[in-house]
Amino acid sequence: MDWTLLYIITIILILPCFIYGVITQNGVYSTFEKFSKVSAKSGITASELSQKLLNASGIDNVEVVNIDGKLTDCYDSKHKVVKLSTSTYSSSSVSALGVCAHEIGHAVQDKNKNVLFKIRTFLVPILNFFTRAFVPLILIGSILSFGFYLESIGYYIIWASVILYGLSFLFYLVTLSLEFDASKKALKLLEETGTLDSEELDQAKKVLSAAAKTYIAAFLTSLLYFLRFLSYAMIFARRD
Ligand SMILES: [Zn+2]
Repeated sequence: MDWTLLYIITIILILPCFIYGVITQNGVYSTFEKFSKVSAKSGITASELSQKLLNASGIDNVEVVNIDGKLTDCYDSKHKVVKLSTSTYSSSSVSALGVCAHEIGHAVQDKNKNVLFKIRTFLVPILNFFTRAFVPLILIGSILSFGFYLESIGYYIIWASVILYGLSFLFYLVTLSLEFDASKKALKLLEETGTLDSEELDQAKKVLSAAAKTYIAAFLTSLLYFLRFLSYAMIFARRD
């Protein structure tokens, strides 16, 4: 394995990957905005629809609440709450209905005891811990390495990075698959319950695929960083 070549490739790809991330983020906002102006013919609001879809999915232990912000919608599995942002909650636009149906898709994953959903829930606190511990780790490592053990401390920091980015790569891989599945479930629910007609379903699909692209960007970024630190660690290990 040519680790040096892999390392160079990851460095070259970081900028295009970052640009792709920015483009997809803008894509979500503009697509959401565009279909926020399109009211669904059913006239149902996102909060009403959430309740309806929860009932249709046989879920009776999940609450629907309104939270601040824009596009901050999420499903909180710990507290069994579908959180809809202010821009979604009372809206009956195609965007709002697509987004809330997607969150119900996550509630269905939770209800079905989806293995990936469990892995993701398990990874969140570990990743949070590593992310929080990471900066102090680098700082301490850098201070110590001024005087002595330069090589071994550097080695320790590099492997900590490999573990951190390895975990984050795994997290985004699992997340990506869950996000695609939640959107698939959402569109199926919207169709089966007759909430959206075929034209509106197409529009909702555009909103959800724009959101999915941001997860692809996050996944690619985490993969690049993981490969970058892994190849760096391997080059370092071979030198010794
Ligand atoms: Zn989601």
